[in-house]
Amino acid sequence: MADYAAWFECISGCGERYSLKEVVYVCRKCGALLQVAHDMGKLKKKSADEWKRLFAQRKHGTEWPYGSGVWSKKEWVCPEVEPENVVSMYEGESNLFWAERLGKSLGLNNLWIKLCGNSHTGSFKDLGMTVLVSVVKQMISEGKNIRAVACASTGDTSAALAAYCAAAGITPIVFLPKNKVSVEQLIQPIANGALVVSLKTDFDGCMEVVREITKDNEIYLANSMNSLRIEGQKTVAIEIVQQFDWQPPDVVIIPGGNLGNVSALGKGFLMMEELGLIKKRPIIIVAQAQNANPLYRAYKAGYENYRPMKAKKTIASAIQIGNPVSVQKAIAVLKEFNGIVEEASEAELVEASVAADKTGMYTCPHTGVALAALFKLVKRGVIKKDQSVVVVSTAHGLKFSEFKYKYHLNKLPFKSRYPNMPVETEAKLDVIRKVVDRQLKKRTAAQR
Ligand SMILES: *Cc1c(COP(=O)(O)O)cnc(C)c1O
Repeated sequence: MADYAAWFECISGCGERYSLKEVVYVCRKCGALLQVAHDMGKLKKKSADEWKRLFAQRKHGTEWPYGSGVWSKKEWVCPEVEPENVVSMYEGESNLFWAERLGKSLGLNNLWIKLCGNSHTGSFKDLGMTVLVSVVKQMISEGKNIRAVACASTGDTSAALAAYCAAAGITPIVFLPKNKVSVEQLIQPIANGALVVSLKTDFDGCMEVVREITKDNEIYLANSMNSLRIEGQKTVAIEIVQQFDWQPPDVVIIPGGNLGNVSALGKGFLMMEELGLIKKRPIIIVAQAQNANPLYRAYKAGYENYRPMKAKKTIASAIQIGNPVSVQKAIAVLKEFNGIVEEASEAELVEASVAADKTGMYTCPHTGVALAALFKLVKRGVIKKDQSVVVVSTAHGLKFSEFKYKYHLNKLPFKSRYPNMPVETEAKLDVIRKVVDRQLKKRTAAQR
């Protein structure tokens, strides 16, 4: 792809630039985060319609690696990797579906769920990890000595890193906060053969450790502070718009922890706008758990005095982050997109998740946070009933079954509104008939 070019550039505007194949995560001159910049002049040589046609033609195709949702946008994402070094498991192209019943229960006709959890390791983290691990494979093929790739994780990043590294034959090291990730998330990197280091600290503590460990240039950093991840994740915006026949929705709601994903979402929309594929921007809404809400607090104060905080325990464990690495990028995106930040208490996020499940979904708690924000903003009239709304569902609910189990058995610290306990009865047909009849009557009564 010699026709296209991309590089790292300092977000502060100090002018520093580095090759994507350099081991660098923050600006060496001023210390700010980096972002990937593209030679837009080269990308503009194709018209918006030509890009749309090319993306449509590649969709679900078999030509390596363009059938992947991420790599179908290779020129926009990472032209610097040779196709033979791409490490892909055909991530992306997740379903965007009309949540008809849930939407109507809120008076919304146009509620959509982008199910990023329907992916190789069960979360959107695959979108960024395929890019990062591919660049590592490219660097190794060019003779760079990289002994391992490391990340701190609230669970899903480590699962994605471990899977993509295992597919590439590269060693992953994952630092996890002890007892703060689900069993499903913990077993994923173990199964994929990662070096799993369990630390008696929280995510923010693990993040500090990995920053130190990766000062050794032979251990490459895989957190979203490394902006290669953002490039892959931004394809979620492009996919959503493509799935709507190139019409952006009015509102997108996304849960936020380390705030890389919302930065990526915004970047995807801005790139489409610059290349003429869209004319209008959606409103972007970040939803945070009340127990880990540093962005929400800053938003309330007009972004004037952002302060990191000590995150408290939340059922939405993947966003239990008090010191988000990408906060400045996220604030910049929110300012460009009429952004709103909303929060959800533990009870709110759980009840929202349960309400969605009752309409056929199986939502993770982070999606519950986004849905709770939706419910609150519709109620307050901030989201209007005629607007089209996309909720980004970040992980598969099956990775987070414990809270649902506890909810339905009424074992959470607050009272469950709609527990659905199994009914135990004798295995005798006449008894069962009576029980079923009684239960059906109860349900009919409850619906009235
Ligand atoms: C990582 C993650 C998030 C948060 O994304 P950030 O980029 O850290 O804001 C939300 N939901 C799930 C399921 C995640 O794994």
